[in-house]
Amino acid sequence: PFALAGKRVYVAGHRGMVGSALVRRLRHENCLVQTADRSVDLREQAHVRGWFADNRPDVVIVAAARVGGILANESYPAEFLYDNLMIEANLIEAAHRHDTEKLLFLGSSCIYPKLAPQPIAEDALLTGPLEPTNEWYAIAKIAGIKLCQAYRRQYGANFISAMPTNLYGPGDNFDEKSSHVLPALIRKAHAAKLAGDSAITVWGTGTPRREFLHVDDLAAACIFLLQNYSGESHVNVGSGSDLTINELAETVCKVVRFEGTIEHDTSRPDGTPRKLMDGSTITAMGWKPTIDLEDGIAQAYRWFVDNETA
Ligand code: GDP
Repeated sequence: PFALAGKRVYVAGHRGMVGSALVRRLRHENCLVQTADRSVDLREQAHVRGWFADNRPDVVIVAAARVGGILANESYPAEFLYDNLMIEANLIEAAHRHDTEKLLFLGSSCIYPKLAPQPIAEDALLTGPLEPTNEWYAIAKIAGIKLCQAYRRQYGANFISAMPTNLYGPGDNFDEKSSHVLPALIRKAHAAKLAGDSAITVWGTGTPRREFLHVDDLAAACIFLLQNYSGESHVNVGSGSDLTINELAETVCKVVRFEGTIEHDTSRPDGTPRKLMDGSTITAMGWKPTIDLEDGIAQAYRWFVDNETA
C-alpha cells in the first residue's frame, strides 16, 4: 500500500467539518500535516501556486469547498458553481505542477442523477439529469472528478476521488437556514425543548430517504483509500443504510429528549426522493464504517451543545 508515514500531507479545507476530521485522524499516521492559513484564498490561482511552491506537499486532500444545504444551494448558484470550480482546478493543477505523489479529491453523492437506480453505484455518473436544487454544486464536483481522471490519463498523476454520502458530526454547520437536514433538526429539537414548544417543523413531506455517515468514518475511509486505491473511477463512501426524514427527525428528538411532535412545512422542497449509495467498491476492498447513527447523533449533539450554545 501507499505509505503516508513521513510524508507532507496537505489538508485543503482544514477548518471545515471534513478537513478537521482528517487533521484529527492524520495525527495517528506519522505524517506531517500541512494546512494553509486564511490569507490563502483557494479560489485565487496565484495564492495556491505560491503556497505549493513554498510548502511542496507530497500528498494533497481536497476537502475545501463551498458547501451548504438545499436552501443555500438554491440561493447562491453562482458561488456554488464558481467557487468550487476554482478551488478544485487550482489545487489539482498545482498538485500536478509540483509532482504531488497522490491527491484525493472529495465530492458528494449529489453528483448522481436525480433518478439514479438505488443504491447508486459509481457507474451511474452522467447517466441522467441532476437534482435541480443542487446542480450547481454537483456540476462543479463532477468537473473535479474529471480533472483527476484527465491528469491521470494525460500525465499519469495518481489522483483519486471519493464521493461521500450526507455527512454529519462535530464541526458541522448548525445554521438554521444554510445547514443540511441533520444539524438543522438537532438545532430545532434542542431549541424546542428549551422553549417548551409542542412541535418542531420539518421541511417538505418528511418522506424523502437519506443516508448519513459520521465524518470520522469518512476520514478513516479517506486514509484507507489513499493507502489502498489508485484507480481511475471515483469511489463511493456510505454507511450502507438510509431512512426517511421523518425517521431521522424521530431519532434526533429521542437523542435530544424532545418529547413533542413533528409538523411539516410542505412549501419547502423535498429534493431528490432517495439517495442511498452502493458502497460495495470500498467494502470489497476491506473498509467499513463503525459509527452507529444514533450514537453518532448523540456525539454531534454534545458537540453542538458545547460549541454552539454559549
Ligand atoms: P439534500 O440531501 O441535498 O436534499 O439536502 P438537505 O440535507 O438540506 O435536505 C435533505 C432533506 O431534508 C430534504 O427533503 C429537506 O426538505 C429535508 N429537511 C427537513 N427539514 C429540514 C431542515 O430544517 N433543513 C434542511 N436543510 N432540510 C430539511
